[in-house]
Amino acid sequence: MKIIKGDNVLVISGKDRLKTGKVLRSLPAVGRLVVEGVNVAKKSRRPRKQGEKGQIVSLPMPIDASNVKLLCPKCGKPARVAYKAAEGRNPKEKNKTRICKKCSAEI
Ligand SMILES: [Zn+2]
Repeated sequence: MKIIKGDNVLVISGKDRLKTGKVLRSLPAVGRLVVEGVNVAKKSRRPRKQGEKGQIVSLPMPIDASNVKLLCPKCGKPARVAYKAAEGRNPKEKNKTRICKKCSAEI
């Protein structure tokens, strides 16, 4: 997956289309992301301790990673991501850096 935790993303489809937020968690096994403030669902929480009240909390639910675009921290635009081998290293190893397709800056 090209988007990782801590990235800022733009949602491009679904009910939260055009919202932006920070990726709180990435779930590469299912290709999904949890984005701050996006796909928020209300969940009831039972009281855990005695005397504590149950409450309703809002939690962001995972969305499909294909429904977001990375917001490039350099040019601020929603961009696709490319990979580039880090300089002087073997491209087959995990030494790649991410590149913004718009401004070619390393992310
Ligand atoms: Zn850029």
